[in-house]
Amino acid sequence: MRVLVVGGTTEGRSLARQLGADPARFAVTYSLAGRTHDAAVPGAPVTARVGGFGGVAGLVEFLRREDIDVVVDATHPFAQTMSAHVAEAALGAGTPVVAVARPGWSAEPGDDWRRVGSLGQAADLAPALGSRIFLTVGRQGVDRFVGDGSSWFLVRSVEAPDVVPPRSLLLLGRGPFTEPGEADLLARHGIEVLVTKDSGGEATAPKLRAARRHGIPVVVVDRPSRPASVPVVADVDAALAWLERQSG
Ligand code: NAP
Repeated sequence: MRVLVVGGTTEGRSLARQLGADPARFAVTYSLAGRTHDAAVPGAPVTARVGGFGGVAGLVEFLRREDIDVVVDATHPFAQTMSAHVAEAALGAGTPVVAVARPGWSAEPGDDWRRVGSLGQAADLAPALGSRIFLTVGRQGVDRFVGDGSSWFLVRSVEAPDVVPPRSLLLLGRGPFTEPGEADLLARHGIEVLVTKDSGGEATAPKLRAARRHGIPVVVVDRPSRPASVPVVADVDAALAWLERQSG
């Protein structure tokens, strides 16, 4: 079975690696957008490719040319354009498709969460809740906040954003993080508000528990909608089970 894993997540890499470990049954291509420099590719016998396909038409062409039997959308829950392209291209090429999307986070007793529909809304709301803001929305999301010259930002991302707000401190870091570490960060920088996307997963969840413990409000950007035509599984094991069923 020739499988295209459209990646950029821990789940995508893990799935590609596990499928690649069974080369008698699976020939795996793992695709990355090429946004980060330390592109984590699974290694042989998985074939890695980097860069866009050239829209839906390009992806349909790729699926046909490479004779792909199954596509797995293992992009980040906020990679809305790519998920839409995968859905449309799979329909166009008649290729079975499944998405792996880790569940979003849920508020628990003691949490003070404000859910918003976009990064723009988060940028509007956060300064009303406090003037020292911990911004964890990913490198590409930071530009929505650069117009705020009044607040002070602690910006954390895996790689440096192109721009940061005028009054800010940039911290480069990749999870997994710990609750004591996050609590220490909140206290040390006098953080009054946390802003995050609802990325889900355990690696970056400790900041939410630390915020709860410190009584800090959290602005949570809701996930964009997913294409209705693509079935979704929650984790790598469920994706492997789905692929087993396809291989019949
Ligand atoms: P996006 O806005 O949904 O996609 C923009 C374009 O980038 C797509 O149209 C496609 O170009 C190309 N692309 C995206 N993912 C690709 C992949 N895995 N392989 C090949 N081309 C890809 O994507 P994004 O939000 O910028 O995310 C880019 C990558 O970073 C994704 O792999 C995603 O999983 C990962 N990521 C995103 C976030 C986030 O918060 N958005 C967080 C962590 C990781 P063409 O139209 O030319 O094919």
